[in-house]
Amino acid sequence: MADKLTAVKGMNDILPPDSARWEALESAVREVMRLHAYRNIRTPIVEPTALFIRGLGEVTDIVEKEMYSFEDRLNGEQLTLRPESTAGVVRAVVEHNMLYEGGKRLYYMGPMFRHERPQRGRYRQFHQIGAEALGFGGPEVDAELILLACSLWKALGLTDVRLELNSLGQPPERLQHRAALIAYFEQHADQLDEDAKRRLHSNPLRILDSKNPAMKALNEAAPQLLDFLGEQSLAHFNAVKAILDANAVAYSINPRLVRGMDYYNLTVFEFITERLGSQGTVCGGGRYDYLIEEIGGKPAPAVGWALGVERVLELLKEQGAGVADVLTDVYAIVPDAAALPQVMPVLQSLRSMGVSVQMHAPTDSAAGMGSMKSQFKKADASGAQHALVFGPDELAQGQVTVKSLRDGQGAQRTETLANISHWGHSLQSAL
Ligand code: ATP
Ligand code: MG
Repeated sequence: MADKLTAVKGMNDILPPDSARWEALESAVREVMRLHAYRNIRTPIVEPTALFIRGLGEVTDIVEKEMYSFEDRLNGEQLTLRPESTAGVVRAVVEHNMLYEGGKRLYYMGPMFRHERPQRGRYRQFHQIGAEALGFGGPEVDAELILLACSLWKALGLTDVRLELNSLGQPPERLQHRAALIAYFEQHADQLDEDAKRRLHSNPLRILDSKNPAMKALNEAAPQLLDFLGEQSLAHFNAVKAILDANAVAYSINPRLVRGMDYYNLTVFEFITERLGSQGTVCGGGRYDYLIEEIGGKPAPAVGWALGVERVLELLKEQGAGVADVLTDVYAIVPDAAALPQVMPVLQSLRSMGVSVQMHAPTDSAAGMGSMKSQFKKADASGAQHALVFGPDELAQGQVTVKSLRDGQGAQRTETLANISHWGHSLQSAL
């Protein structure tokens, strides 16, 4: 046998029955997005590297250390597997002139790639679901997006998350804060780690987002952006809070919340849980009013968030939320392969009535379909409610035996193939 190949480190296979949790989450998301009038957008996984450098900021963890970048072998183009989707969505919105007739509310789901140290809740291929509202500048849309996330938690039965809120203000306010921040860190230069030293003059705000516990105390006492906000920024922040209050959404203000990308301004927020260890942020977002312009579009405001699917599912599991596996309704037992041309159309009819059907199929068809006993064993293991037995005698009379696999007694009856629509529907309603 050839050597086994394994998945790339930090990249996971999602297998049944676990994949049922993913499907359930995705359905819940589609419904909640529909209710809030957000529409699906799908952008490529590979984008020009320049998009992320320009979009996320050169001095960020993602751009400095985490991107999977490569050169196109044929034309030398610099490409990157998307580490997040906001930049790609903005590129698409600009490229297709989507804001021409006004704002757009969009959502996406899909894999993202970051070269991080794999651990619980942190992978190299992971999945995000995100919502973006582009072309809207008011605090009501910041609040709408937070309410949307809350509706999603409710639909999923997720309870153990709390909301943290902050405002990063506008560029002139950021500039003042930046000067104060540099002065403060310079005073404590001996306490800065390597990343912080490097970023002190290029991007001091990023220091506040450090994951190094040794930097915590220093960061806690650092000058806070909130103290530098002018009247308009404060009014925006207060309006968001007022809407959350009116909707009974609990939150706390975290003046040290800065997020990992440079594109944010004004409102930023995270949904955090204590139940997943240090990878506790399940969802994060905020306003990014300058990104569209940065990526070459006509200036327009925007706001959005992204959640980590693996972390949300892990938290649901922690909470003991069960998800029913997707089970088959009916298992088709076919003693003689010669009957398949007659049997398979019957199975298709059942499926078209909404009955899910698993057909028995042997590994080695040259050895026949397998004994009745082995077929019934498979039928039992499939979890199906009923077995349909397409024996030669039954078929000769245009009939099939319907046997219950779950009533404990194996009750069975005979049905005529001609009457399939009738018993197909009765099967379906019995399930
Ligand atoms: P963290 O601070 O945990 O590194 P982040 O600020 O880099 O997160 P964002 O870029 O805001 O994360 O992405 C939004 C969400 O995507 C995060 O809140 C998290 O739930 C999820 N996420 C980010 N990176 C990973 C990863 N490597 N593996 C799994 N989920 C991730
Ligand atoms: Mg990160």
